[in-house]
Amino acid sequence: MKISEILKNDSPSVSFEIFPPKASQSTEETVRVIEKLAPLAPSFISVTCRAGSTPDYTVKVAEAVESFGIPALAHLTCVSSDSREADRLTDALASRGIENILALRGDLPADGSFPTGDFPHASDLIAYIKRRGSFCLGGACYPDRHPESRTYAEDIEHLRIKEASGAEFLTTQMFFDNDLYYAFLYRLLRAGIKLPVIAGIMPVTNARQIIRSAELSGTALPPRMRAIADRFGDDPAAARQAGIAYATEQIVDLFAHGVNHVHIYTMNRPETAAAIMNNISDIIGK
Ligand code: FAD
Repeated sequence: MKISEILKNDSPSVSFEIFPPKASQSTEETVRVIEKLAPLAPSFISVTCRAGSTPDYTVKVAEAVESFGIPALAHLTCVSSDSREADRLTDALASRGIENILALRGDLPADGSFPTGDFPHASDLIAYIKRRGSFCLGGACYPDRHPESRTYAEDIEHLRIKEASGAEFLTTQMFFDNDLYYAFLYRLLRAGIKLPVIAGIMPVTNARQIIRSAELSGTALPPRMRAIADRFGDDPAAARQAGIAYATEQIVDLFAHGVNHVHIYTMNRPETAAAIMNNISDIIGK
């Protein structure tokens, strides 16, 4: 099922992100993660494509997601694909009945080099795949703007190019302050960008992860979250409970303000996803 169809539903829904194993490992453990996530009935599951793994594992894990009757969203990056590789991977996805692709530039290697170069920006990859088939394509967005963008206005202009290139939805980078997300929606509205924006929520369950998550997302840590890290950072069980409560509160606030689609970065931890889903079971009617 296409995510554009899922997003037409105007009642609250939750989807999950998982990552594939390293290239040197088998996919068995990841399939067990999907087995535990499936009963939580997510609207779809996205599968990342990262350095250290291989895009073939993204395809294989996405296929496993579909085998549980759950729509899969396969990530594809400009960093790992030139046009030949994009052709090969999109053919592999299409032949497995996978209809959704999140097209990204990808994280650049530490030395800043760009190994392939056919697609300098995610919008180039989106436009290319759009011409090749009938995938439902999504792109990434950043409520606190992408760290390489100098201004919010520049960031929004590049999202306009994503929309014009054929993106049908956006998924946000993790954010820890919902006001950033609401302000971002307002900037999109003002710019006339009509794409649905799935809110990405990362349950932060240990102090080290809090700091790393903030660094990765380029977003500021709200004082409330910093206080959680300071107070519970040395107690893993307490930090986990606080992280689940924080993410739950963010999600409830989003739903209360009329946001319908939330994406949980599960970090392949089904217990964390299950705890959050249990906290909002009556809200999402599951
Ligand atoms: P782009 O849209 O290309 O943007 C990158 C920068 O270039 C931005 O500053 C943008 O404003 C600018 N830009 C965009 N278009 C133009 C243009 N036409 N001209 C000039 N400048 C332009 N990384 C992975 O490696 N694997 C993953 O699976 C993965 N999944 C992700 C999922 C989500 C939901 C998000 C939010 C991020 C994910 N990332 C992933 C990280 C992402 O690859 C990085 O944040 C990367 O730095 C930017 O990717 P992008 O697709 O937003 O790039």
